[in-house]
Amino acid sequence: MDNDIFSRVVKNIILKAIAITAVLCFFYTAWISDLKIVQISNLKLFDSFFSLKYRINGSCSKIDDMVLVAVDDESVRNMDVRWPWPRSFVAEIIQKISDEDPAVIAVDLIFTGKSQDQEQDRIFVDVLKNTSNVISASYFGNDGRHVVPEENIVKNIKAYGFVNKPRDQDGVVRKMRPVALTGAGEIIDYSLSVKVSGEFLDQPYYDIISELPLLENHTAYIQYGGSKKDFTTIPAWKILKEKADISGLKDKIVFLGVSAEVFHDSYPTPLGSMPGVLIAANETATYMTRDYFNYSSEFMNFMILFFFVFIAILAALRISVLHGILLNTVQIIIFSVLGFFLLSKNLIIDYSGVIILIVIPSILLYGGRYVNLAIENMMLKKESITDGLTRLYGYKYFDLRLKLQLKKTLTGGKSFSLEMYDIDHFKNVNDTYGHEFGNVVLKAVAGVLSDNCRKSDTVARFGGEEFCILMPGAKQENALKHADRIREKIKALEFTTEKGEEVKITISGGIVSTEEYISDDHLNILRAADTALYSSKDTGRDKISIFDKEDKLLEEKK
Ligand code: GH3
Ligand code: MG
Ligand code: MG
Repeated sequence: MDNDIFSRVVKNIILKAIAITAVLCFFYTAWISDLKIVQISNLKLFDSFFSLKYRINGSCSKIDDMVLVAVDDESVRNMDVRWPWPRSFVAEIIQKISDEDPAVIAVDLIFTGKSQDQEQDRIFVDVLKNTSNVISASYFGNDGRHVVPEENIVKNIKAYGFVNKPRDQDGVVRKMRPVALTGAGEIIDYSLSVKVSGEFLDQPYYDIISELPLLENHTAYIQYGGSKKDFTTIPAWKILKEKADISGLKDKIVFLGVSAEVFHDSYPTPLGSMPGVLIAANETATYMTRDYFNYSSEFMNFMILFFFVFIAILAALRISVLHGILLNTVQIIIFSVLGFFLLSKNLIIDYSGVIILIVIPSILLYGGRYVNLAIENMMLKKESITDGLTRLYGYKYFDLRLKLQLKKTLTGGKSFSLEMYDIDHFKNVNDTYGHEFGNVVLKAVAGVLSDNCRKSDTVARFGGEEFCILMPGAKQENALKHADRIREKIKALEFTTEKGEEVKITISGGIVSTEEYISDDHLNILRAADTALYSSKDTGRDKISIFDKEDKLLEEKK
């Protein structure tokens, strides 16, 4: 039987957990995951995993196939002319690089239009004529127009490719766009990096990207396998002034580009800020290693989401708040390790989704439990001051209220009256009709008392069949009228026993009013009411008496 209850409880909790998880997962996939803040936090988590992976794995193998010749800050400082350097300077650098016989010269600069000095263009084109492996940059403007190198240059270079960098919502460059498409989805052109890779590997461009897992917007993640310090970088000015040993350029891909901070050609990436040319180099390394990131399938995402959220909810439904928070933390750590492991295998899963969905139910369920506890506490507190049978306040609470009221009155507050009642010959009622019937009478009397009081009054069951009413602001004569009305109402009550006998009861009362009698000890006020009550009992019952301050208090009499 116990086992039965246990399995029912477990079943109930598991069903609840499944239901809540399903609802949350539905909300997540349908609505929450589209929120910008969620997407950005996902990307940030991706970045931290990526940096960790990079720190552990080190730079990718193809980094050594590339050399950067950079117009860096020191090049800008060390040249006698300002940037943009005349095309003859660029021609000279290309010539010097070319003399070392690299495999590809990738120029991340766009030579549109003609120079003001025609001689410059002639020198440039002459150099290009002597080289066979220059690939330069083009660009798709905001209007979609393809900005390509000047005609004469195009004729004398191997190829040009676009260098547009798609950015994520937070402005970070994490993705590459290998092809530009027409509206109909046909390929217009390949990017600079695709063309450089194809040239270096001697493969058709389409082959380079054939296995690339493309996202919806025809982008894919760059494997940032190298940061600034991993690439061999030669300052451009040193080549011009023949201050660098460039013998290592043979058979390499040489990227020529700008990295000087002043030109603002830098973008945030998962590995920190990088100049455009370094991003292009990383993109090229990604194509060459074919080390691509894959997105996990929707189904797998959902299963991972469901599993972790389910455990979180199961925990939240079963265990204490503190243990729950601990368990959630452990879960988030386990999930993060899993996330990192999958990313190290190039699989990207929905990171923030799981973490958000672990945190949301925890807050809801643990928060809800806190509120419940607070409500329960309040109820318990009320229960402890309430009499179980009559639902009136008990002795303790009344005592406290009386003390507080007396303090107020003594310090200049309003006077008050206190009424005390005792049912007449109640023992007889009990003895004749039974205790149960006695209880019915007690409840009925309590009902009359509370129905005939103001909100500001405190009605309490003071003892077995004694009741007290504290009436702040009530004058003695009003209290007397009030008590007498109650006495009449109780006298008018008609009870019928189970056997059909008609029973009637009466009540006696005593009143004390602080207008007439006051003491700084609240027990004396109670004794005064008690004295008046017993004076009613002594003189025939079914009546109300007022405490006469000439009388001795009851206890002192005894
Ligand atoms: P008196 O007119 O002098 O007050 O006579 P009495 O019989 O009412 O005397 P007393 O006040 O001493 O009697 C109290 C009786 O109240 C005793 C007890 O049986 C009864 N009583 C106390 N608490 C309860 C209760 O919770 N339920 C019931 N049914 N009876 C109670
Ligand atoms: Mg009594
Ligand atoms: Mg009595």
